[in-house]
Amino acid sequence: MKHLLLLGGGHAHVHVLRAFAQDPLAGVRVTLVSPFPRQMYSGMVPGLVAGHYAVDECVIPLAPLAQRARAEFIESSAVRLDAAARQVTLANAQVMSYDVLSVDTGPVMDRDAIPGAREHGLFVRPIEHFARMWELLLASAELHGLSVAVIGAGAAGVELALAIQYRLADRARINLVTGGPEPLAEYPVPVQALARAALRRQGITVIEDSCAQITAQHVHLGGGTRLQCDAPVLAIGSSAPAWLAGSGLALDQHGFIATALTLQSTSHPEVFAAGDVASSVALQRPKSGVFAVRAGPPLALNLRRYLGAAALQEHLPKLRSLNLLACGRRSAIVAWGSWSAQSALAWYWKDWIDRRFVAKYR
Ligand SMILES: Cc1cc2nc3c(=O)[nH]c(=O)nc-3n(C[C@H](O)[C@H](O)[C@H](O)COP(=O)(O)OP(=O)(O)OC[C@H]3O[C@@H](n4cnc5c(N)ncnc54)[C@H](O)[C@@H]3O)c2cc1C
Repeated sequence: MKHLLLLGGGHAHVHVLRAFAQDPLAGVRVTLVSPFPRQMYSGMVPGLVAGHYAVDECVIPLAPLAQRARAEFIESSAVRLDAAARQVTLANAQVMSYDVLSVDTGPVMDRDAIPGAREHGLFVRPIEHFARMWELLLASAELHGLSVAVIGAGAAGVELALAIQYRLADRARINLVTGGPEPLAEYPVPVQALARAALRRQGITVIEDSCAQITAQHVHLGGGTRLQCDAPVLAIGSSAPAWLAGSGLALDQHGFIATALTLQSTSHPEVFAAGDVASSVALQRPKSGVFAVRAGPPLALNLRRYLGAAALQEHLPKLRSLNLLACGRRSAIVAWGSWSAQSALAWYWKDWIDRRFVAKYR
């Protein structure tokens, strides 16, 4: 019997499991390996921080989903991959052989990108750890006022700065350290302007400078200024997992798995990858939850076809995507191409989409 090993319970794999539950794979043993018993949906994390959601509303339990797909669930994580030997070593020391491997483990954060961050920083990934640390931070804000610095001003950093300010209100002073450029530098100028206005309205100080070092009480900026900071929240973007480096798989220049349009590794056709851990050699697409979700159906189809020795289909996701950015209170910025706006309606729209996504896999 062939063995399909699914690494990571990410956005694409939850869909793969659901597809296998609805239409079981015949003659294939399936295993899912993921480090937590549930997948916390990143799109709802700003709402969790803002207090709009309880933790249970933002998670997809993985064991029942795997069970419905007749897959074995192992709560662990990959620490080594030997693509030539078709073997994955797990953190629990188990060595797993596979015939077909699918990787949807998401990105990691470089804990050493900023001196002192490893010791003092509150990293947004793994999201499970961040959610636990957030509870502790909330409790300490009850006792005394906090100085918070959110470091990194991509979508996650901006959403989290607004959410933290909304939740802590006058119990905290929030700085957003962008690394140099404007917040949301990758977004169209009108979206940047809306974000800038939202940050200003909520009294968040935007600092267009880099973070050079973090110490127990301070964030040191590249320009020489020192900010008082009790809680440095790191949303500095993502890196490739270190265990891919010695795997023998073809990787892109940043260490992510190089994939073809069929979602197969360009070097090992029995290895598939989707979501932020994958990097298409033919198509430039941003790393985002939206594209990870879009990869779910073609990944399920191609895994099934590969295992059945049928022809694979190419996945050509459209570049344009709907972006909805939560703004702390029940308001969101909606962006579609060059059009954008901020409204309460956009938040309810995002809330409906996010809740529907999670409900689909529960
Ligand atoms: C706070 C925040 C808000 C965001 N909001 C949005 C948004 O609104 N819209 C949007 O498009 N994007 C958003 N993003 C980006 C989005 O989270 C990522 O692009 C998305 O999670 C990528 O999905 P994925 O399936 O690749 O990985 P993930 O969702 O990270 O899933 C990876 C899975 O693999 C598991 N895993 C990790 N390492 C291993 C290992 N070694 N072995 C086995 N399993 C492993 C993880 O536990 C997890 O279950 C946000 C990010 C953050 C941090």
